[in-house]
Amino acid sequence: MKSGTVHVIGAGLAGLAAAVRLGQAGREVIVYEAAGQAGGRCRSYFDETLGCRIDNGNHLLVSGNTAAMAYVAEIGAAATFEATDRAEYNFVDLEKDERWSVRPTEGRVPWWLFLPHRRVAGTAFFDYFDAMRLMQAPATATIAQTVNTGRAIYRRLWAPLAVAALNTDADLASARLMGALFADTFGRGGAALHPIFPKEGLSESLVAPAIAAIHAKGGEVRFAQRLRGLRCDGDRVAALDFGRGEVAVGEGETVLLAVTAPVAQDLVPELSAPNAFSAIVNAHFRVDDLPGPTYNFLGLIGGTADWIFLKPGIISTTTSAADRLLDRDPEELATAIWRDVNRAYGFGHPPPPAWRIVREKRATFAATPDQLRRRPGPRTRWRNLMLAGDWTDTGWPATIEGAIRSGFVAAGAALK
Ligand SMILES: Cc1cc2nc3c(=O)[nH]c(=O)nc-3n(C[C@H](O)[C@H](O)[C@H](O)COP(=O)(O)OP(=O)(O)OC[C@H]3O[C@@H](n4cnc5c(N)ncnc54)[C@H](O)[C@@H]3O)c2cc1C
Repeated sequence: MKSGTVHVIGAGLAGLAAAVRLGQAGREVIVYEAAGQAGGRCRSYFDETLGCRIDNGNHLLVSGNTAAMAYVAEIGAAATFEATDRAEYNFVDLEKDERWSVRPTEGRVPWWLFLPHRRVAGTAFFDYFDAMRLMQAPATATIAQTVNTGRAIYRRLWAPLAVAALNTDADLASARLMGALFADTFGRGGAALHPIFPKEGLSESLVAPAIAAIHAKGGEVRFAQRLRGLRCDGDRVAALDFGRGEVAVGEGETVLLAVTAPVAQDLVPELSAPNAFSAIVNAHFRVDDLPGPTYNFLGLIGGTADWIFLKPGIISTTTSAADRLLDRDPEELATAIWRDVNRAYGFGHPPPPAWRIVREKRATFAATPDQLRRRPGPRTRWRNLMLAGDWTDTGWPATIEGAIRSGFVAAGAALK
């Protein structure tokens, strides 16, 4: 093994992003992944019930996700995405039977806020000053403590955005994190908000090309390699234990731990890391004769699902902050969600077609003020041990963008 080798533990997007960057910088990289495939919480697989490949969950990227877009460019995967040419977010309020589109104007000056037909229905220009309140909120404040929960903008923008982007209900979610996210997305204008969809699947767009890029630079990705322990010697990690003898970590070599928060804390008990999590439930319906456009999505207010995504052959829904759904009978859940889909699109498929419910109990950490305080930076007290993962202190919620940012930051730290 060459000196300067970086041992990346975990082939989720954080680990892959770090490995790609390090490979490009000329470092020898070995990625060790516990599972038989890469991608972690962002992956595609063949589902036997549906008889087709599906993503573990719907993932929305937007043009202004700067780290994610840089990663896509670095792994040469831009052509695997379907990009839209405008920022348009369609919603239906199932309780009030009302529909609207949020259509931010392209530039940074938010002219759209002056135009009622581009804003959230039922909201006024001055309602959007909430964004400033969120950005300036104390670190301990939740969204519900910061904005007026009696106004339409709360039910139709802040609460759904908290659930969608922070995977946390607005009465628990950090106001400041929401403010920062809003500034970094809506605050940069519509040009930063064009939705982008993987044409085939998450793995084809974000995972397989990354592995190819790592290989192209001489790196390795080893599967079925679960790290069971780290042996430290003074201020450095000296060996990795995969259960079949130790892998020595030489002087000048680095370990970049890009596993989930609970695993990181098991491996390094003194680490501070988020320890409360929030579920996401996805429902997938096989619909071969999908009417209307492919690659489309719709926000639901007042439904069991929060979002409906149309893809070729599949209708998928997402319900975030979904702990309340974990114990529900899957058949009953699929029926309730399919009812939402029918009401939203008027498709007229009374019994649900072939369906699959996917529940991710610990989909992301809960973005509460308390949990945010537990997020560590990329460095540890061991000089050759770096951390990455959507749960580290990226300034972003647990998202693709956050995971990739963390990987880039940890790679930068390893290169120093
Ligand atoms: C259902 C669902 C829907 C989502 N929707 C969105 C969305 O719309 N938009 C968005 O931006 N984000 C979304 N997310 C969040 C996004 O998927 C995650 O933030 C991101 O994938 C996390 O990447 P990561 O690399 O930090 O962690 P992970 O993907 O969890 O990667 C960690 C990796 O480490 C491996 N590992 C664990 N233990 C060990 C060990 N001991 N040794 C070796 N390897 C180990 C794991 O197998 C895994 O591959 C969603 C997540 C879920 C679950």
